Amino acid sequence: MSGSWGCPHEVKGLCSKVKNRPCDPGMKGCVLYGRFAFSTADKNSPAIRRKLLATKEEKKHGNQ
Ligand code: SF4
Repeated sequence: MSGSWGCPHEVKGLCSKVKNRPCDPGMKGCVLYGRFAFSTADKNSPAIRRKLLATKEEKKHGNQ
């Protein structure tokens, strides 16, 4: 599909990087894990979770 990103590790819906499990972008072991924030909490690395928490706290207390 034009304009969409295609993962080089995805082969027929399976991930060649994570034991040929069904491709689930952002799952642990995926090349996207730890690089982006996902709406599903368990897809977020501890570092990303800390960043999200810090951002949430910042918004709560305002940017002073
Ligand atoms: S799970 Fe991640 S690394 Fe694996 S095929 Fe899907 S997008 Fe690529």
